[in-house]
Amino acid sequence: MNPGRRRALRVLAGTGAATAAAASPVAASRASGVVPPEAVGMLYDTTRCIGCKACVSACLRANDLEPDRSPDGLYQAPLGLNSRTKNVIKLYKDEQQTSYVKMQCMHCVDPACASACMLGSLHKDETTGIVSYDPSYCVGCRYCQMACPFEVTKFEFDKAVPKIVKCELCRHRVQDATFTQTDSGFSRYPRGHGPACCEVCPREAVIYGKRSELLAEAKRRLDANPDAYVPKVYGETEAGGTQVLYLSHVDFEKLGLPDYGDQGIPHVAYAVQEGIYKGFIAPVALYTALGLVMLRNRKKEDGPDAADSGKGVAP
Ligand code: SF4
Ligand code: SF4
Ligand code: SF4
Repeated sequence: MNPGRRRALRVLAGTGAATAAAASPVAASRASGVVPPEAVGMLYDTTRCIGCKACVSACLRANDLEPDRSPDGLYQAPLGLNSRTKNVIKLYKDEQQTSYVKMQCMHCVDPACASACMLGSLHKDETTGIVSYDPSYCVGCRYCQMACPFEVTKFEFDKAVPKIVKCELCRHRVQDATFTQTDSGFSRYPRGHGPACCEVCPREAVIYGKRSELLAEAKRRLDANPDAYVPKVYGETEAGGTQVLYLSHVDFEKLGLPDYGDQGIPHVAYAVQEGIYKGFIAPVALYTALGLVMLRNRKKEDGPDAADSGKGVAP
Protein backbone atom coordinates (compact mmCIF):
# COMPACT_ATOMS: atom_id res chain seq x y z
CA MET A 1 0.00 0.00 0.00
CA ASN A 2 1.13 3.48 -0.77
CA PRO A 3 2.78 4.94 2.35
CA GLY A 4 1.14 8.32 1.67
CA ARG A 5 -2.29 6.71 1.74
CA ARG A 6 -1.50 5.00 4.99
CA ARG A 7 -0.24 8.22 6.58
CA ALA A 8 -3.35 10.10 5.50
CA LEU A 9 -5.62 7.58 7.15
CA ARG A 10 -3.62 7.59 10.35
CA VAL A 11 -3.72 11.39 10.59
CA LEU A 12 -7.41 11.20 9.90
CA ALA A 13 -7.90 8.56 12.55
CA GLY A 14 -6.10 10.65 15.18
CA THR A 15 -8.04 13.80 14.35
CA GLY A 16 -11.35 12.01 14.32
CA ALA A 17 -10.76 10.28 17.60
CA ALA A 18 -9.96 13.53 19.35
CA THR A 19 -12.97 15.31 17.91
CA ALA A 20 -15.30 12.51 18.78
CA ALA A 21 -14.15 12.44 22.32
CA ALA A 22 -14.94 16.13 22.56
CA ALA A 23 -18.48 16.22 21.34
CA SER A 24 -20.20 13.60 19.36
CA PRO A 25 -22.87 11.30 20.77
CA VAL A 26 -23.62 9.99 17.30
CA ALA A 27 -20.00 9.38 16.59
CA ALA A 28 -19.56 7.82 20.01
CA SER A 29 -22.34 5.35 19.30
CA ARG A 30 -20.81 4.52 15.93
CA ALA A 31 -17.48 3.93 17.66
CA SER A 32 -18.88 0.89 19.45
CA GLY A 33 -18.78 -1.01 16.13
CA VAL A 34 -21.13 -3.73 17.26
CA VAL A 35 -20.45 -7.13 15.73
CA PRO A 36 -23.70 -8.90 14.82
CA PRO A 37 -24.15 -11.88 17.17
CA GLU A 38 -24.35 -14.32 14.26
CA ALA A 39 -21.56 -12.65 12.30
CA VAL A 40 -19.68 -14.98 9.98
CA GLY A 41 -16.16 -14.58 8.74
CA MET A 42 -12.86 -16.16 7.87
CA LEU A 43 -9.63 -16.82 9.73
CA TYR A 44 -6.45 -16.85 7.65
CA ASP A 45 -3.20 -18.14 9.17
CA THR A 46 0.03 -17.34 7.32
CA THR A 47 1.87 -20.18 9.04
CA ARG A 48 -0.36 -22.71 7.29
CA CYS A 49 -0.53 -21.22 3.80
CA ILE A 50 1.68 -22.79 1.14
CA GLY A 51 0.80 -20.35 -1.62
CA CYS A 52 -0.83 -22.94 -3.86
CA LYS A 53 -3.50 -20.43 -4.96
CA ALA A 54 -6.22 -23.07 -5.09
CA CYS A 55 -8.34 -20.49 -3.27
CA VAL A 56 -7.79 -17.96 -6.04
CA SER A 57 -9.02 -20.35 -8.74
CA ALA A 58 -11.92 -21.52 -6.59
CA CYS A 59 -13.01 -17.93 -6.04
CA LEU A 60 -12.94 -17.32 -9.79
CA ARG A 61 -15.14 -20.34 -10.47
CA ALA A 62 -17.55 -19.76 -7.59
CA ASN A 63 -18.12 -16.16 -8.63
CA ASP A 64 -18.26 -16.79 -12.36
CA LEU A 65 -15.45 -14.33 -13.04
CA GLU A 66 -13.49 -14.07 -16.26
CA PRO A 67 -9.90 -15.30 -15.98
CA ASP A 68 -7.38 -12.57 -15.29
CA ARG A 69 -4.56 -13.40 -17.69
CA SER A 70 -1.04 -12.08 -17.16
CA PRO A 71 0.51 -9.95 -19.95
CA ASP A 72 2.29 -12.97 -21.41
CA GLY A 73 -0.96 -14.88 -21.63
CA LEU A 74 -0.66 -17.20 -18.67
CA TYR A 75 -4.01 -18.32 -17.34
CA GLN A 76 -5.39 -16.77 -14.17
CA ALA A 77 -2.34 -14.95 -12.89
CA PRO A 78 -3.65 -11.84 -11.09
CA LEU A 79 -1.07 -9.48 -9.64
CA GLY A 80 -3.57 -8.02 -7.21
CA LEU A 81 -7.25 -7.51 -6.57
CA ASN A 82 -8.95 -6.19 -9.67
CA SER A 83 -12.30 -6.26 -11.45
CA ARG A 84 -11.78 -9.95 -12.28
CA THR A 85 -10.18 -10.96 -9.01
CA LYS A 86 -11.95 -10.97 -5.65
CA ASN A 87 -9.26 -12.96 -3.89
CA VAL A 88 -5.49 -12.97 -4.33
CA ILE A 89 -2.47 -14.58 -2.72
CA LYS A 90 0.71 -12.52 -2.50
CA LEU A 91 4.22 -13.32 -1.37
CA TYR A 92 6.16 -11.26 1.16
CA LYS A 93 9.90 -11.78 1.29
CA ASP A 94 12.81 -9.98 2.98
CA GLU A 95 16.23 -11.07 4.23
CA GLN A 96 14.78 -12.91 7.23
CA GLN A 97 11.20 -13.80 6.50
CA THR A 98 8.90 -15.15 3.85
CA SER A 99 5.15 -15.30 4.00
CA TYR A 100 2.12 -15.62 1.81
CA VAL A 101 -0.83 -13.39 2.47
CA LYS A 102 -4.41 -13.70 1.25
CA MET A 103 -6.27 -10.53 0.30
CA GLN A 104 -10.01 -10.06 -0.16
CA CYS A 105 -12.72 -7.91 1.40
CA MET A 106 -12.29 -7.73 5.18
CA HIS A 107 -16.04 -7.41 5.84
CA CYS A 108 -15.44 -4.53 8.23
CA VAL A 109 -17.61 -4.25 11.31
CA ASP A 110 -18.10 -0.58 10.40
CA PRO A 111 -17.56 -0.58 6.63
CA ALA A 112 -16.33 2.68 5.09
CA CYS A 113 -17.50 1.54 1.66
CA ALA A 114 -21.11 1.29 2.84
CA SER A 115 -20.92 4.64 4.62
CA ALA A 116 -19.54 6.31 1.51
CA CYS A 117 -22.26 4.84 -0.74
CA MET A 118 -25.06 7.40 -0.88
CA LEU A 119 -27.48 4.98 -2.53
CA GLY A 120 -27.08 1.94 -0.35
CA SER A 121 -25.59 -0.27 -3.05
CA LEU A 122 -23.11 -1.49 -0.49
CA HIS A 123 -24.82 -2.83 2.57
CA LYS A 124 -23.87 -4.66 5.75
CA ASP A 125 -26.23 -7.49 6.64
CA GLU A 126 -27.58 -7.08 10.16
CA THR A 127 -27.41 -10.80 10.90
CA THR A 128 -24.34 -12.18 9.18
CA GLY A 129 -22.40 -8.93 8.89
CA ILE A 130 -21.55 -9.74 5.27
CA VAL A 131 -20.91 -6.56 3.29
CA SER A 132 -22.74 -7.10 0.02
CA TYR A 133 -23.21 -5.14 -3.19
CA ASP A 134 -26.42 -4.52 -5.14
CA PRO A 135 -25.61 -3.16 -8.62
CA SER A 136 -29.19 -2.06 -9.26
CA TYR A 137 -28.69 1.11 -7.19
CA CYS A 138 -25.09 1.78 -8.17
CA VAL A 139 -24.40 4.93 -10.23
CA GLY A 140 -20.68 4.22 -10.61
CA CYS A 141 -19.49 7.18 -8.51
CA ARG A 142 -16.74 4.97 -6.99
CA TYR A 143 -16.87 6.72 -3.59
CA CYS A 144 -16.78 3.26 -2.06
CA GLN A 145 -13.56 2.52 -3.89
CA MET A 146 -11.97 5.69 -2.65
CA ALA A 147 -13.13 5.19 0.93
CA CYS A 148 -12.09 1.57 1.47
CA PRO A 149 -9.03 1.52 3.76
CA PHE A 150 -7.94 -1.85 2.40
CA GLU A 151 -8.20 -0.92 -1.31
CA VAL A 152 -10.59 -3.77 -1.96
CA THR A 153 -13.42 -2.42 -4.10
CA LYS A 154 -12.63 -2.44 -7.82
CA PHE A 155 -14.50 -1.01 -10.80
CA GLU A 156 -15.16 -2.61 -14.18
CA PHE A 157 -13.70 0.17 -16.33
CA ASP A 158 -13.72 -2.09 -19.38
CA LYS A 159 -17.47 -2.85 -19.28
CA ALA A 160 -20.26 -0.90 -20.99
CA VAL A 161 -22.34 -1.19 -17.82
CA PRO A 162 -19.67 -1.34 -15.14
CA LYS A 163 -20.14 -2.65 -11.64
CA ILE A 164 -18.15 -2.65 -8.44
CA VAL A 165 -16.38 -5.94 -7.76
CA LYS A 166 -15.45 -7.26 -4.35
CA CYS A 167 -15.66 -10.42 -2.25
CA GLU A 168 -19.14 -10.85 -0.77
CA LEU A 169 -18.12 -13.83 1.33
CA CYS A 170 -19.76 -16.09 -1.26
CA ARG A 171 -23.17 -15.00 0.01
CA HIS A 172 -24.85 -16.71 -2.95
CA ARG A 173 -23.49 -20.02 -1.66
CA VAL A 174 -24.12 -19.46 2.04
CA GLN A 175 -27.51 -17.73 1.96
CA ASP A 176 -29.68 -20.84 2.23
CA ALA A 177 -27.37 -22.81 4.47
CA THR A 178 -27.49 -23.22 8.19
CA PHE A 179 -24.56 -23.93 10.44
CA THR A 180 -23.90 -27.40 11.73
CA GLN A 181 -21.51 -28.32 14.50
CA THR A 182 -18.40 -30.21 13.38
CA ASP A 183 -16.20 -32.67 15.24
CA SER A 184 -13.70 -29.91 15.80
CA GLY A 185 -16.34 -27.92 17.66
CA PHE A 186 -16.73 -25.41 14.89
CA SER A 187 -19.98 -24.34 13.35
CA ARG A 188 -19.69 -24.79 9.58
CA TYR A 189 -21.94 -24.60 6.59
CA PRO A 190 -22.46 -27.90 4.81
CA ARG A 191 -19.92 -28.64 2.09
CA GLY A 192 -20.72 -26.80 -1.12
CA HIS A 193 -22.36 -23.96 0.78
CA GLY A 194 -19.36 -22.32 2.42
CA PRO A 195 -17.03 -19.74 0.92
CA ALA A 196 -15.26 -21.47 -1.97
CA CYS A 197 -11.78 -20.31 -1.00
CA CYS A 198 -12.11 -21.93 2.42
CA GLU A 199 -13.56 -25.18 1.12
CA VAL A 200 -10.69 -25.90 -1.27
CA CYS A 201 -7.78 -24.90 0.93
CA PRO A 202 -5.72 -28.08 1.40
CA ARG A 203 -4.09 -26.76 4.56
CA GLU A 204 -7.05 -25.11 6.26
CA ALA A 205 -4.96 -21.97 6.10
CA VAL A 206 -8.22 -20.14 5.63
CA ILE A 207 -11.33 -21.37 7.43
CA TYR A 208 -14.79 -19.93 7.79
CA GLY A 209 -17.35 -19.91 10.53
CA LYS A 210 -18.87 -17.66 13.13
CA ARG A 211 -16.59 -14.73 13.89
CA SER A 212 -16.81 -15.37 17.62
CA GLU A 213 -15.62 -18.97 17.16
CA LEU A 214 -12.90 -17.95 14.72
CA LEU A 215 -11.61 -15.35 17.16
CA ALA A 216 -11.57 -17.94 19.96
CA GLU A 217 -9.70 -20.36 17.68
CA ALA A 218 -7.16 -17.69 16.76
CA LYS A 219 -6.51 -16.96 20.43
CA ARG A 220 -6.23 -20.67 21.15
CA ARG A 221 -3.51 -20.96 18.49
CA LEU A 222 -1.68 -17.93 19.89
CA ASP A 223 -1.75 -19.43 23.40
CA ALA A 224 -0.72 -22.88 22.22
CA ASN A 225 2.18 -21.67 20.09
CA PRO A 226 3.19 -18.15 21.10
CA ASP A 227 6.61 -18.26 19.43
CA ALA A 228 5.08 -18.97 16.05
CA TYR A 229 3.07 -15.78 15.76
CA VAL A 230 3.05 -12.04 16.11
CA PRO A 231 1.01 -11.82 19.37
CA LYS A 232 -2.11 -10.31 17.90
CA VAL A 233 -5.23 -11.29 15.97
CA TYR A 234 -5.46 -8.73 13.18
CA GLY A 235 -9.04 -7.68 12.71
CA GLU A 236 -10.17 -8.18 16.29
CA THR A 237 -10.18 -4.39 16.72
CA GLU A 238 -8.29 -2.88 13.77
CA ALA A 239 -10.21 -0.21 11.88
CA GLY A 240 -13.12 -0.89 14.23
CA GLY A 241 -12.85 -4.66 13.75
CA THR A 242 -13.21 -6.89 10.72
CA GLN A 243 -14.91 -10.21 10.12
CA VAL A 244 -11.90 -11.58 8.29
CA LEU A 245 -9.24 -12.26 10.91
CA TYR A 246 -5.52 -12.88 10.44
CA LEU A 247 -2.77 -14.68 12.33
CA SER A 248 0.75 -14.08 11.10
CA HIS A 249 4.39 -14.86 11.80
CA VAL A 250 5.39 -11.60 10.03
CA ASP A 251 4.48 -8.06 11.08
CA PHE A 252 1.03 -7.34 9.74
CA GLU A 253 2.11 -4.01 8.33
CA LYS A 254 4.65 -5.75 6.08
CA LEU A 255 1.86 -7.89 4.69
CA GLY A 256 -0.23 -4.89 3.74
CA LEU A 257 -2.40 -4.89 6.85
CA PRO A 258 -1.83 -1.42 8.33
CA ASP A 259 -2.40 -0.36 11.91
CA TYR A 260 -5.41 1.92 11.58
CA GLY A 261 -6.15 2.00 15.29
CA ASP A 262 -9.30 0.66 16.84
CA GLN A 263 -11.87 3.04 15.40
CA GLY A 264 -13.89 2.42 12.28
CA ILE A 265 -13.00 4.61 9.32
CA PRO A 266 -16.61 5.89 8.89
CA HIS A 267 -16.63 6.85 12.56
CA VAL A 268 -13.54 8.94 11.96
CA ALA A 269 -15.18 10.83 9.11
CA TYR A 270 -18.37 11.38 11.10
CA ALA A 271 -16.39 12.59 14.07
CA VAL A 272 -14.60 15.22 12.00
CA GLN A 273 -17.87 16.27 10.43
CA GLU A 274 -19.70 16.69 13.70
CA GLY A 275 -16.85 18.54 15.38
CA ILE A 276 -16.84 21.17 12.65
CA TYR A 277 -20.63 21.34 12.52
CA LYS A 278 -20.37 22.78 16.00
CA GLY A 279 -18.69 25.81 14.45
CA PHE A 280 -21.33 25.99 11.70
CA ILE A 281 -18.98 25.01 8.96
CA ALA A 282 -21.12 22.55 6.99
CA PRO A 283 -20.13 19.16 5.70
CA VAL A 284 -16.91 20.43 4.24
CA ALA A 285 -15.24 18.57 7.05
CA LEU A 286 -16.67 15.24 6.07
CA TYR A 287 -15.69 15.73 2.47
CA THR A 288 -12.24 16.90 3.50
CA ALA A 289 -11.91 13.76 5.52
CA LEU A 290 -13.15 11.55 2.73
CA GLY A 291 -11.04 13.59 0.32
CA LEU A 292 -7.90 12.59 2.18
CA VAL A 293 -8.88 8.98 1.80
CA MET A 294 -9.73 9.51 -1.86
CA LEU A 295 -6.40 11.24 -2.49
CA ARG A 296 -4.66 8.34 -0.89
CA ASN A 297 -6.56 5.90 -3.02
CA ARG A 298 -5.82 7.72 -6.25
CA LYS A 299 -2.09 7.49 -5.86
CA LYS A 300 -0.33 4.69 -7.64
CA GLU A 301 -0.35 1.55 -5.57
CA ASP A 302 3.23 0.62 -4.79
CA GLY A 303 2.80 -1.89 -2.02
CA PRO A 304 2.15 -4.24 -0.40
CA ASP A 305 3.09 -6.11 -3.52
CA ALA A 306 6.35 -4.31 -4.12
CA ALA A 307 8.21 -2.44 -1.45
CA ASP A 308 10.62 0.30 -2.52
CA SER A 309 13.82 -1.57 -1.81
CA GLY A 310 12.85 -4.73 -3.59
CA LYS A 311 11.56 -6.20 -0.37
CA GLY A 312 7.92 -6.69 0.26
CA VAL A 313 4.96 -8.60 -0.94
CA ALA A 314 5.25 -9.78 -4.50
CA PRO A 315 2.46 -11.18 -6.62
S1 SF4 B 1 -12.57 -3.97 3.33
FE1 SF4 B 1 -13.29 -2.22 2.10
S2 SF4 B 1 -14.83 -3.11 0.75
FE2 SF4 B 1 -14.55 -4.56 2.43
S3 SF4 B 1 -16.10 -4.01 4.00
FE3 SF4 B 1 -14.20 -2.93 4.53
S4 SF4 B 1 -14.44 -0.91 3.57
FE4 SF4 B 1 -15.91 -2.28 2.56
S1 SF4 C 1 -15.41 -15.82 0.27
FE1 SF4 C 1 -15.94 -16.29 -1.87
S2 SF4 C 1 -15.78 -14.32 -2.94
FE2 SF4 C 1 -14.69 -14.07 -0.97
S3 SF4 C 1 -12.54 -14.56 -1.42
FE3 SF4 C 1 -13.51 -16.48 -0.74
S4 SF4 C 1 -14.20 -17.49 -2.63
FE4 SF4 C 1 -13.79 -15.34 -3.15
S1 SF4 D 1 -5.66 -22.61 -0.92
FE1 SF4 D 1 -5.00 -22.36 1.22
S2 SF4 D 1 -2.80 -22.96 1.21
FE2 SF4 D 1 -3.41 -22.60 -0.94
S3 SF4 D 1 -2.85 -20.42 -1.28
FE3 SF4 D 1 -5.03 -20.44 -0.67
S4 SF4 D 1 -4.97 -20.12 1.56
FE4 SF4 D 1 -2.90 -20.71 0.95
